[in-house]
Amino acid sequence: MADRPPPDDDRRWHPETRAIRAGRGGSATALAPVLWASSTFITPTVDDAREMATSMAPERFYSRYGNPTIRDFETAIADLEGAEDARAYGSGMGAVSGVVLGLCSAGDHIVAQRQLYAGTQLLLQTACPRFGIDVTFVDGTDPGAFAAAVRPGRTVLVWAETPANPRLDLVDLDAVGAIAGPMTVVDSTFATPLAQRPLDHGVDLVVHSATKGIAGHNDATLGVVAGSSELCQWLWSFAVLHGAIASPFDALNGLRGLRTLPVRFARQCATAQALAEALEGHPGVDGVRYPGLASHPQHDLAKRQMEGAGTILTVDLAGGFDAGRRFVESVELAQMAPSLGGPETLVTHPASTTHVNLTLEELEANGIGPGTVRISVGLEHPEDIRADLEAALARAGA
Ligand SMILES: *Cc1c(COP(=O)(O)O)cnc(C)c1O
Repeated sequence: MADRPPPDDDRRWHPETRAIRAGRGGSATALAPVLWASSTFITPTVDDAREMATSMAPERFYSRYGNPTIRDFETAIADLEGAEDARAYGSGMGAVSGVVLGLCSAGDHIVAQRQLYAGTQLLLQTACPRFGIDVTFVDGTDPGAFAAAVRPGRTVLVWAETPANPRLDLVDLDAVGAIAGPMTVVDSTFATPLAQRPLDHGVDLVVHSATKGIAGHNDATLGVVAGSSELCQWLWSFAVLHGAIASPFDALNGLRGLRTLPVRFARQCATAQALAEALEGHPGVDGVRYPGLASHPQHDLAKRQMEGAGTILTVDLAGGFDAGRRFVESVELAQMAPSLGGPETLVTHPASTTHVNLTLEELEANGIGPGTVRISVGLEHPEDIRADLEAALARAGA
């Protein structure tokens, strides 16, 4: 669109300010982002149609190729991540598979960390071999492990996630960014664009499940990838075929969420820190994992590369499996549901739900103990959350 103003990425402003202003190119004089629900756009002349059909990532055409609301969300994320461009997808997994399958071919090799979101792990373990793509898994907490596993000339992708599911292990972003040769990708979902900016460390692409903190209200399913214009063009070329395109409505909810992400994230980090400190001394708790605790094995790294230690805690209950089950059924304010980053405090007990089919050894390999519960800290009053969790611990006999 010729009359589109330049992206609102004024670098004088702090990220907190840019999160409010970014991505309004398609809104004209509307203050709020505009929902362009249309699945297609009229091309007045054959020349216009030809230009749209042959141009890379047009802003509006057939909406799988380009839609102004989706474009605005992409522009806003690129701004906050310090990237040249971004691509939105219909989910975080749409973004993950869009990167992996869009950039890798049969015969290629990927180095990935072992500590991964379960969907990403399954994609790498089951889909990649079907397409002739080899994957080597390494310990993401060992800064040299990624580079050591790179096969020169064959490794095309290095995949990291930090903080990582489920035990909030961290990856040294400088070490990943320094790897020469393959493209490097960081899933930064748990950090949001506020707490860390992987591209500033030399990483090539940053991925988010915007379903989580970015959209931030548990009412959108959305993914996004940010990086160089060139890589984003490659991703676009495959995305229009792969088809995991963001819905304009979810992109709108992404822009809605971004405006309050800084205040939500700051509040949720502060509550998570207070809860982590309170629960660490609780007799029913064997241990708390939170990057903001001095007891976290990579606390120094967290201080170096993160601003805000995140909104998720992992707690090991002393009473093991039964206590974990009882705890997630005993909470009254917190609710049992899989997701994170939203206003509602959520709890999960992986050993009895998402990972119920794994043996104890397999659970341990995934960093999950029988009494491990994951807490996604919401926006409720911190004292209410704390009272609820402590009462549930008492009821669980933990
Ligand atoms: C949720 C999540 C994903 C997948 O995102 P969806 O939006 O559920 O598809 C990927 N990575 C991480 C770290 C996540 O938490």
